[in-house]
Amino acid sequence: MPAVTVLGSVNLDLVVRLPRLPAPGETVTGGEFGRHPGGKGANQALAARRLGANVNLVAAIGDDELAEAALALLRAEGVGLENCTTVPNCSTGVAVIMVGSGGENLIGVAPGANALLASGALDLEPTGPVICQLEVPIETVTRAAATTSGFFCVNAAPAREVPVEVWHRANVVVVNETERDQYGSALDDCRGLVVITMGKAGAMALRDGQVVAQATPPQVEAIDTVGAGDAFVATLAVSLLEDLGLEPALKRACAAGALATTRVGAQPSLPTAAEIDAIMSR
Ligand code: ADP
Repeated sequence: MPAVTVLGSVNLDLVVRLPRLPAPGETVTGGEFGRHPGGKGANQALAARRLGANVNLVAAIGDDELAEAALALLRAEGVGLENCTTVPNCSTGVAVIMVGSGGENLIGVAPGANALLASGALDLEPTGPVICQLEVPIETVTRAAATTSGFFCVNAAPAREVPVEVWHRANVVVVNETERDQYGSALDDCRGLVVITMGKAGAMALRDGQVVAQATPPQVEAIDTVGAGDAFVATLAVSLLEDLGLEPALKRACAAGALATTRVGAQPSLPTAAEIDAIMSR
């Protein structure tokens, strides 16, 4: 089983489900509260772990009581947290989410410690594989790209300005269709694979602008797409590290993404290797 470092964000999602979303200045009561661990880094770390990988999460959390709740599932399932740094006088990353009865939402994010994940604190294995996303400072991602030489996978989400060195360095860049449109020709700087996820239409992989592989997910009854992208990225990276081959890896990642849409929430919905195998042999 591969060992992989995930460099990224840890959040706690505070969710209130309401009969309808309030307008600015208005209060709507009658809500139901839920608290869920999230953040793309944490989600992808857990997704890789559920596939059986040995995972080391490099992240920053605050010195508050939210941190333990944010890390609870990761700890319980054996994700390595030795490189999760506690930032003094800082809050853990929080997303405050209001969801209306039709599933429409309002989301405010306070990155807290995630914004302070310092590149100076990085102690990465020089040749080990790394998966990262862009919810932490871009300087930190850029430094990780510069100081490691192993497999480097960038889930370029959310879309933001990315230094050309990162595009050059990445073996795999994963974006969804919205991000692909936001980046536009910047993605032409990628020297590795560019993988575009397209919701229930699946995913395709391009090299030098040419499609080199495509896959579709199994048909599922999607009830909540939160976590689908994270399941996809982690499964693709781990499968490529296991030398599964590009097309099978893409197909497996699509199956993982599809499974994640069949359950509510991000981390609880991330599938295990056995669940992915089961749906693929259906
Ligand atoms: P993101 O969540 O990052 O926007 P996508 O919506 O493209 O990413 O979803 C990632 C992957 O999850 C897709 O490539 C696909 O394999 C799977 N997926 C997403 N939505 C569905 C769906 N409705 N049915 C089946 N699979 C889905």
